[in-house]
This record gives sequence, C-alpha cells and structure tokens, in this order.
Amino acid sequence: RKNLIHITTGSSALDELLGGGIETSSITEVFGEFRSGKTQLAHTLCVTAQLPKSVNGAEGRVAYIDTENCFRPERIVEIAERFELDPEEVLDNILVARAYTSEHQIELLVHIAAKMVEETFGLLIVDSATALFRVDYSGRGELSERQQKLNRFMSQLLKLSEQFNLAVFITNQVMSTPDGSAGMFVVDPKKPVGGHVIAHASTTRIMLRKGRGEQRVAKIYDSPMLAENEATFEVSSGGVID
Ligand code: ADP
Repeated sequence: RKNLIHITTGSSALDELLGGGIETSSITEVFGEFRSGKTQLAHTLCVTAQLPKSVNGAEGRVAYIDTENCFRPERIVEIAERFELDPEEVLDNILVARAYTSEHQIELLVHIAAKMVEETFGLLIVDSATALFRVDYSGRGELSERQQKLNRFMSQLLKLSEQFNLAVFITNQVMSTPDGSAGMFVVDPKKPVGGHVIAHASTTRIMLRKGRGEQRVAKIYDSPMLAENEATFEVSSGGVID
C-alpha cells in the first residue's frame, strides 16, 4: 500500500496504543460519553496533522465537518502554540464546514473532495458523524432508512480516505435509552451509536472514558488488528498530553 502515515495524537501512550497514531487511508472512530474528550482529541489532531512528517505529522491541510457547533478556533490557537506553530497559519489550513442536516453532511463531502484535488490534505474530521442522522431519522420505523443513509456517508468517507491517503477521524456518541421515568435516560458508555454500519466502516474504534481529574482512558474496541489494551492520557490547554 502507498505511504501510510501515522499522525500523533499528542500523547505517546495513546500513539503507542494505536500503533503510532491515527492512520491514513482508514477511518478511526472515537466514542464515549459527553465530555469524555472526543472533541479535544479532534482539535489536537487538527494541529498535529500539519506538523512535518519527521515529527509524526502529515504535512497536510485539515477538513473539519462540524455538526454540533463544537469547533473552537481559540482552542486551536492554544494547541498550535504548544507545538510552536504559527496559530494564524494553522487556522488558515483548517477548512471548517458546518453541517445542518444529515443530507447536508453527505453533500459537504463533494465540496471537500473538490478542495482535496487542489491541495494536500492529511486529515478529515467528522464531529459528530452520527448526531444529525439520529435527529433526522428519530421516528419509529425510520431506523433502516437512517442506517442506509449513514452507510452511504461512511462509504464515501472510506473512499476519500483511500483516494487522498487521508486519516479520517470521526466522533460518535453512546446509546441512551429511556429509563421509564419522564424524560430520563440511561447511558450505556460501552455501546456506540450506529450499529453494524459504523462498526463495519471504522477500521479502528476507540472507546473513551473519564478518569480522575483531566485524565482520560482510551481502550481499543473490537479490533481485528490491535490488542484490546488501554492507554491513559490527559486533556490540557495545549490539547491531548500524556
Ligand atoms: P466530548 O467531545 O467527548 O463531549 P470534549 O472533548 O469537549 O468532550 O471534552 C471536554 C473536556 O475536556 C472538559 O470537560 C475538560 O475536562 C477538558 N478540557 C476542555 N478544554 C480544556 C482546556 N482548555 N484545558 C484543559 N482541559 C480542557
């Protein structure tokens, strides 16, 4: 296969767990509860993907599909400073696309692919890959249509990752079910949304959970390639660290 690259996550323990970092020509999924660190990891990768290959970057631009208005330029600035990169340049190299509906999210890939023909990209982030599909197909009897559309989206992501030797990094939520009392839900932190469609499309799946303080624990989930080990990292103002 062509020059596969591993992009550093900012934590050497997490990199080691992943066999060197987030791999190009494949899809890496991170799932976990609210505040488990998914978006912070995505922001860190926005910066590290731009680093030289000699220090485990991809020397490429970044595309960020933002479905829940979670992209924070000010976080990018802080993380860029940690890596001694020019924050303005780093921000200029991130193409942020806000998706408003699941249909729009699928369409955005066409526009992003056109940009990728013109310039070198190393990373495509979708934060979150599943949220809009859950909103748009929330009714009874809509699950199969949702899964069909989600499958279309994921197939196109995989195609892009291979065509442009990109690392694709998606965030995903965990299942919550009504617990019987009015408006209350029980979250299952070990059960990602998206069923077999996401399971099939994601090459590497990372389950995140909160540890003590700013500590986070990442565990490889259901991988044919990697051992189901764990790594502990922290979220700091400079992004993900050991
Ligand atoms: P998720 O996307 O999984 O819902 P986030 O990636 O937004 O979660 O993680 C939020 C957590 O990241 C916060 O609860 C906090 O612990 C940590 N965090 C966010 N910003 C900072 C920062 N500037 N400095 C240190 N920790 C931060």
